[in-house]
Amino acid sequence: MMATTRQEAVRSISSDTWEFRENEHGNARLTEIFGKYVFNDQVQRQRLPGAVYRALRNTIETGARLEPEIADGVATAMKDWAIEHGATHYTHWFQPMTGLTAEKHDSFLMPTSEGQAILEFSGKQLAQGEPDASSFPSGGLRATFEARGYTAWDPTSPAFLRKSSDGATLTIPTAFCSWTGDALDKKTPLLRSCEAVSSSATRLLNMIGEASVTRVMPTAGTEQEYFLLDRQFFTLRPDLVSAGRTLFGARPYKGQEFDDHYFGAISQRVLRFMQDLEHELWLLGVPIKTRHNEVAPSQFELAPVFSAISVSCDQNMLTMDVIQDVAERHGLAALLHEKPFAALNGSGKHLNWSLADNLGHNLLDPGHTPHENLKFMLFLTAIIAGVDRHQDLLRASIASAGNDHRLGANEAPPAIISIFVGTQLEEVLNALIEGRAPAGTDGGNLRLGVNTLPELPRDMSDRNRTSPFAFTGNKFEFRAVGSNQSIAYPAAFLNLIVAESLDAISDRLEALGGATAENIQAVVRETLTAHQRILFGGDNYSDAWREEAARRGLLNRIGTPTALADWSSEENKALFERYGVLSRTELESRFQVQSEKYANTINVEAIATRDIATTMILPAAMAHQRQLAESISSVSTVLGADAVAGQKELLVTVSKAIDDMKHSVDELLAIQEELEASEAEPHEHAVAYRERILPAMDAVRGAADLLERLVDDDLWPLPKYREMLFIH
Ligand code: ADP
Ligand code: MG
Repeated sequence: MMATTRQEAVRSISSDTWEFRENEHGNARLTEIFGKYVFNDQVQRQRLPGAVYRALRNTIETGARLEPEIADGVATAMKDWAIEHGATHYTHWFQPMTGLTAEKHDSFLMPTSEGQAILEFSGKQLAQGEPDASSFPSGGLRATFEARGYTAWDPTSPAFLRKSSDGATLTIPTAFCSWTGDALDKKTPLLRSCEAVSSSATRLLNMIGEASVTRVMPTAGTEQEYFLLDRQFFTLRPDLVSAGRTLFGARPYKGQEFDDHYFGAISQRVLRFMQDLEHELWLLGVPIKTRHNEVAPSQFELAPVFSAISVSCDQNMLTMDVIQDVAERHGLAALLHEKPFAALNGSGKHLNWSLADNLGHNLLDPGHTPHENLKFMLFLTAIIAGVDRHQDLLRASIASAGNDHRLGANEAPPAIISIFVGTQLEEVLNALIEGRAPAGTDGGNLRLGVNTLPELPRDMSDRNRTSPFAFTGNKFEFRAVGSNQSIAYPAAFLNLIVAESLDAISDRLEALGGATAENIQAVVRETLTAHQRILFGGDNYSDAWREEAARRGLLNRIGTPTALADWSSEENKALFERYGVLSRTELESRFQVQSEKYANTINVEAIATRDIATTMILPAAMAHQRQLAESISSVSTVLGADAVAGQKELLVTVSKAIDDMKHSVDELLAIQEELEASEAEPHEHAVAYRERILPAMDAVRGAADLLERLVDDDLWPLPKYREMLFIH
């Protein structure tokens, strides 16, 4: 019998040897390559005239407006630098609401009347671009006849070069807005939310006597999880290619139950990929620091050193691109989907978040002096209160079709938002609420600004991996973000709710007559008392917590459509508007876009499910059925009645699974046709897709996965889990 393409792939992959080989980057000095392709501060200082450099830094650090002459000066230096590195083109790089990045390239070329060419790049070209916006989703913000959209240079995130073997492109991070000034992207609300939290935090810091603080900036470090598999397998799986996740596949014999992959030794082939990836990211100034195996087989993680949040957001988008490019070069495919494989761990992106003032202090560092402790307590209190008040927004910010497979399943932070602060800190908070000394300390009541806090541990011993939002020593870690998502929305929503919460504290202090130690103590106490219910240190995956959370009145929004509905509540629209993060129409448009995107994603999965079932799985199953039938008739004269009965039973089982599968495919098609014909609003559509299509897809998959266990291995077309995850 001829081998299937799948079997040939297995053979070819396993016959490749991936032994140790000196890496081509083996001798590169990290300090020399880091940031080589970035127009960073050092390059700016070297290449810009002094006045231009100072004006640019001022814009970056204070958000001051940049004058056109300055932009011209920056553009000239940027162009010269880029051309020296082989660049021929430049592009404004932005994050439309699709969730991906977008770019349109222009060359520096300008023909002269003598038939020659000069290279040109002006301040105007640097500062503003005009891509045709008509094909990007706008959620009704812009009709196609007003197609114009603008990209506006974001000087806070440095330009960089994307290289290919044939040249380089100067890539300029930008924000994207419509002709009328509405934000059409994810970056703009993030930048606006940074301003909001900066002014609220500065106000509170100034009130407590920190007069030299003029700005506060959110910081972020994103841990990125992903899967790697051989590209031959990937291309043989139309579901992975078109939907990013497997829509079929029986469980492997061995999954992650031995916990033998987590932090395990990294294979030579994967290590070589990781080194190449890091090299590339270092050149681009992305400070990748850690790499390791994750929980599921073939799952990995990398994390950079944290930076200013808008830079971190851009760098993470770039990282996701580069992971996929480098994987391709290594004959691998990188899967960034939140749940590429059923029954195995999904992938997340931990958003480590904190606030830093312009003097470089981390505001979530508990510190050692009474004043530092007091400041920490105020910010911690504000965050606790903000998260409790706006559980809905944090939940909504991470809602997506992919992430639905993780949230609430028994492996990832649940859809219920709660905060873990660690036992010691929780005891301190309880002591403050109850007006007593924390356990283990002697003396009287804990008084902020007077006493110091007991030493808080910063090691790993007191971790709770099940919490969606955990304090980890000097930062919070928002763990429910999906691996495939931009951090722009979750980060922006978090900044916003903290801004509001800080203002609520400042307002209270003002109402009480100022930020005296007594008043601070009182406000911290009343605020914590009101929002204590959001703190939870137990097992977030347990049923008991679900019940307990319901008793506490915490939200449990299951599924993206339900979670998204909160984007459009009156209260939330007012909040976004008050802080200038998104206007009512901008927020509403995002609600529409996210809803449409959800329904489209499910729709694509449904089409792929039907197609693969009909054109790949059913033919294999029917060939197997035919073989069984033929063998029964040919052996019936040789074998006894018992043997024939056994074979007939098999045939009945296979035939039944085939029938089930046909029926469920028909059913799926009928539902899809009905939904496609309906003229529901995007959100109603999303609800219907979740409630009706997903179960219909599950039915098809159930029958198919059963068939995978019954059909002759020589006939099965799709690479199996046990192959994709374990053969490299
Ligand atoms: P953990 O063991 O808690 O995961 P790591 O030190 O590995 O801690 O940090 C995880 C991520 O958090 C890294 O990207 C790190 O740079 C980032 N991080 C550390 N401090 C901060 C901070 N102050 N603000 C934002 N991110 C931070
Ligand atoms: Mg971590």
